[in-house]
This record gives sequence, structure tokens and C-alpha cells, in this order.
Amino acid sequence: MPHRLQYLAGRVWLYPMDPDPDRIQGCVAVVADDRGSLVVDAGNSPAVAYDVQRAIAEQGLPAPRRLVYTHHHWDHVWGACAWEGIEIIAHASAAPLLAAEEARPWSHDYLRDQVDANPRLGPSFTARATAMTTWDGFRVVPPHRTFDQALTVAGSQVRHVGGQHAPDSTVVAVPDSGVLLLGDCFYPPPYHLRSPDDGPDVAMVRRLVDEGYEWYVDAHSAPWRGSDLPAETTE
Ligand SMILES: [Zn+2]
Repeated sequence: MPHRLQYLAGRVWLYPMDPDPDRIQGCVAVVADDRGSLVVDAGNSPAVAYDVQRAIAEQGLPAPRRLVYTHHHWDHVWGACAWEGIEIIAHASAAPLLAAEEARPWSHDYLRDQVDANPRLGPSFTARATAMTTWDGFRVVPPHRTFDQALTVAGSQVRHVGGQHAPDSTVVAVPDSGVLLLGDCFYPPPYHLRSPDDGPDVAMVRRLVDEGYEWYVDAHSAPWRGSDLPAETTE
């Protein structure tokens, strides 16, 4: 269902996440910039990416020129083939992971076969099947440009943090707006790889909060203030 962009702070707008956990649709951030706006994460499908593009135009923000993947997981990258003509940036370790994803024969039948072979893929692969109404023109898009540690893009600082959720986890700081975009960086490992002892990376959250941004935005919950740690990380 198409939404409008929600204003967060400074130059930062958010296309909201879907609160239905079964849909695995995180938020997409837009950092408005006269040199060309920066999009953070591609949306979980071309359909969502087109909705974000409509919302950006409706809001009258400068057309996007670059897109950063916070990490290589499908729900952050599968919309990329709809972002035509836009430079995609990711951590260097995302490139081979996404090249491997690009080579898989994605289809509804393939998703079903994979879940039959490994039922723990069920939640993720069922959400992919829901997100993808057509496979016409679909492609996983590896980054056009990679970085090792950090990169500055139109006033935003793109920085690798890694961690247990994904080796390529990247955060995007917008210092002039007081915002740090986190992707899923402090989450436990993805469900099919998770063990019962795994929890959020509390030490990482504390380090990032110590950097003193006003707003923190992880992909799958509402934005939170640095003074107000998410409940699951306070233990
Ligand atoms: Zn993830």
C-alpha cells in the first residue's frame, strides 16, 4: 500500500516500514540534497521501490542520484532493479555476496523448493513470495561502487560497522540533521542462522548511542531517540 514520506529531522525523510512482521518490509530513508538525494536501502521489492519514488516526487525532493545498501539482505536490496540510473554503493564485502544472490534462479517455485529443503527459510522466503507479484525484469543488483571503511556522500557519512547480523553492515550518519541510519546492524543473526542464545548486539548499540545523535533509525522499528534505547537492548 503506497505511503507518503514521513519527515524525521533536518534533511531526512522516511518511507515507513510495514508493521506486519510477516512482510519483512523495512523503512527506506531519503536524505534530501540539491546535488541529488541519497536513498538508504532499496526497498524489499521493485513495487516498494516504485512507491518510494512516487513519494519522493510527491514531496518535491531532489531526484535521487545515489543509493546505499545498509547490508546485502534481500529486504534491503530487492528493490534495486527499479532504481534505474542511480549509483548503488555498498561495503566491499557485500559485492561477492550479492553476485551470488544475483546468480540464483529466483521464482516462486524456487522459493518453495528452498523452503522444502530448509524449513527455517520459511519466514524469509514466504515474505519474498508475498513481496514479489511479478519476476519480470527482476534482478539482484550488486553495488556499482564499494568502500572499505568509510565514504562521504553529499554530506552523509557512510561507515562500515559489520557485526553479527551481517558482515557488510553499514550505517549512514547525517550529522547536519542529527540522524544515524542503522539498517539492521545491531540485530541478532538472521532467523535461519540464529541460535536460542542470540540477542541484539547491546555493546554496538551503546557505542553508537554514545556518538550522540538525536535520532536513531533501524530498519524494522519506529525511529527512536538516542536518549531512549530500544527495550530489547536495555538488559
Ligand atoms: Zn538484515
